[in-house]
Amino acid sequence: MAASFQGFRSLVENSPDAISLINPEGRILYGSASTAKIFGYRPEEMVGRSCLDLMHPEDREPSTRALKAVLAEPKGPCQWNLRVRHKDGNYRWIESTVTNLLLELEVRAIVLHQRDIQARKASELENQRRAEELASSNLRLEEFAHQVAHDLREPLLTVSLYAQLLLRKTKLEPEAQKMAETIVNGATGMATLVESLLSFADTGRPDALQWVDLELAAAAAMQNLAISVEASGATVSIDRLPVVRGSEIHLVRIFQNLIGNALKYRGERPIEISVNGERRGPSWVIRVEDNGVGVTAENRTRIFAPFVRLAHKEVPGTGLGLAVCKKLVEGQGGTIWVESKLGSGSAFCFTIAAEQEDSLIARISRSSVV
Ligand code: ADP
Repeated sequence: MAASFQGFRSLVENSPDAISLINPEGRILYGSASTAKIFGYRPEEMVGRSCLDLMHPEDREPSTRALKAVLAEPKGPCQWNLRVRHKDGNYRWIESTVTNLLLELEVRAIVLHQRDIQARKASELENQRRAEELASSNLRLEEFAHQVAHDLREPLLTVSLYAQLLLRKTKLEPEAQKMAETIVNGATGMATLVESLLSFADTGRPDALQWVDLELAAAAAMQNLAISVEASGATVSIDRLPVVRGSEIHLVRIFQNLIGNALKYRGERPIEISVNGERRGPSWVIRVEDNGVGVTAENRTRIFAPFVRLAHKEVPGTGLGLAVCKKLVEGQGGTIWVESKLGSGSAFCFTIAAEQEDSLIARISRSSVV
């Protein structure tokens, strides 16, 4: 074993991580060669210092706690991340692992194993910064969209009103009549767009959570779509669906947009729509399936972005319906996606958290109240 002690020593000296031995007060007794690479100090400059000296002031308290914990328990390693000041004056993120080997005769010290994680931490912080920046710029964009849509309402109403008056109150040449009708149609289309934009900007404001029977939410959506369902001759079946915690208004809206699309993007065959749900781990997966035109693989993610419409220009729409669904589903902690085979139909699926014993409890309490 004597030869292996040299072996261990050379392993420690050549390790890319800094390995130090410290006493119970946190003073450094020994530092491996890598301390110079990581902290800029030669090992002999480190010996005798308290390891708290070089720590970021905010990290001293948790580090002292970690040291105490490891003193209380021989061996058991303890790991935490902290900032340590390099000789150049800058703080670097370090992953520290301490192991209490005070009772080991060969060592009689606390072993401190330190790894430079500056690059990893910097990229984590950068990702977090980007995510926050994106969220705040999205919010600003939504506020802007709301303001623009709001301000456009009135002038648009004026254009539409006067064009209608022109049509009703004056005798126009056939050509002028056509022009005035075009203005009315354009203004009506734009008003629909402005209203959708306003509701898109307002979507996602958190709504109070309540017990929602998804069967009733889907039925309410069907009620709102009654005229289109009747006109299209569609067969819509709603299977047993669970009771979940969510916003009733938002869930009705999601069903309405998805079933509404299933009616609009139909194929040659009579329309068949099925709404069903399946428990998958901690969530329910709710599916709105149709036998319509389907969506190609490259468009399956794109269509959830605002204003993306595929080549169905003859079908009325603003390109905001699925973006609204995405916002609402994600606002309730779920995800939404589409599974599809072009020409055979699509299944728009979303998840919503399943509560413990959810359906049963809520259904029983609901029926006992009614
Ligand atoms: P809109 O219906 O107003 O265009 P949506 O955001 O609801 O806006 O849908 C975006 C696009 O996704 C639609 O224009 C259509 O091309 C496609 N799409 C949506 N639902 C379906 C569906 N059930 N089947 C096929 N394509 C669909």
